[in-house]
Amino acid sequence: MNGGQERIKGEYLRHMQIIEHAESLAPLHACALVPTMGALHAGHASLIQRAVSDGRPVVVSLFVNPTQFAVGEDFSKYPRTLEADRELCQTAGAAAIFIPSVQAMYPRGVEAANAEAATLQLPLVATQPKLEDAQRPTHFCGVCQVVAKLFDMCQPAAAYFGEKDFQQLRVIQDMVRREGARWKELVVHACPTIRENDGLAMSSRNRYLQANQRTNAQGLSRALMFAQESARAGMDIVAAENEMRRVLTQHQLEVDYAVIRAPETLLPIEKFQPGSRALIAARLEGVRLIDNASCSGA
Ligand code: AMP
Repeated sequence: MNGGQERIKGEYLRHMQIIEHAESLAPLHACALVPTMGALHAGHASLIQRAVSDGRPVVVSLFVNPTQFAVGEDFSKYPRTLEADRELCQTAGAAAIFIPSVQAMYPRGVEAANAEAATLQLPLVATQPKLEDAQRPTHFCGVCQVVAKLFDMCQPAAAYFGEKDFQQLRVIQDMVRREGARWKELVVHACPTIRENDGLAMSSRNRYLQANQRTNAQGLSRALMFAQESARAGMDIVAAENEMRRVLTQHQLEVDYAVIRAPETLLPIEKFQPGSRALIAARLEGVRLIDNASCSGA
């Protein structure tokens, strides 16, 4: 890009505010908030566009939250792509991006923040289903901690979350229901999962996949399609779950879980019901992928 082009791009980006300190969010209270960890893709863009179309000024938070990563997870190598993220937010129509530092979010340090997160009373859907909660026992403590802080700072009227992280969505919905008075009229909106052409759900972590692993990664969406067909065919849940696992294993995926659950509680069910949710977590040589889909009975 030459100097002239740089200047034009700079002018263009100047229309979107870049906010680093929570105090500067005051004029944007009652905004629509889209919380993210950055490394944005078309899935995130769809949330921002949906929020923009609902008519409020949209704030996108970009914060890789250390307290939702356990020791040994990918916090330090999580992709950070601020320049590209800025452009995506601007193009999608965001009014502002909020990029707080770790120090600003957790002034007493990350260790103290982890200790505080561990004391939070989580909604039952964050502890009972034995899905992400079993695989990543401290994860939802960090998620609830950071999302509550973002809500306190932004005081949004609406917040947008992806169904891609379905248990997370359910946890946030229940946290907001329970703490109703704290965030007044806040409405949580669920947005559908955006997929690559080959069916793989878009994720910031897909960039960890080698080209040859991409084919096997299709096993997740294929297993979900299988669950949907099983529901239509009125198949038994246990048989459908076994078949999902078989499809995943055929694609060299190591299965953490592949289940069909109640849509609200995410607890086991005996029969398909309206909105039943198939949920999968599986690993491809160390890259952990999650996906889910609605699969109502016949
Ligand atoms: P993350 O940056 O991964 O924390 O995601 C931020 C938000 O984007 C969460 O509400 C995610 O559920 C949502 N999201 C991530 N991937 C997708 C996708 N493929 N389609 C729709 N929403 C997504």
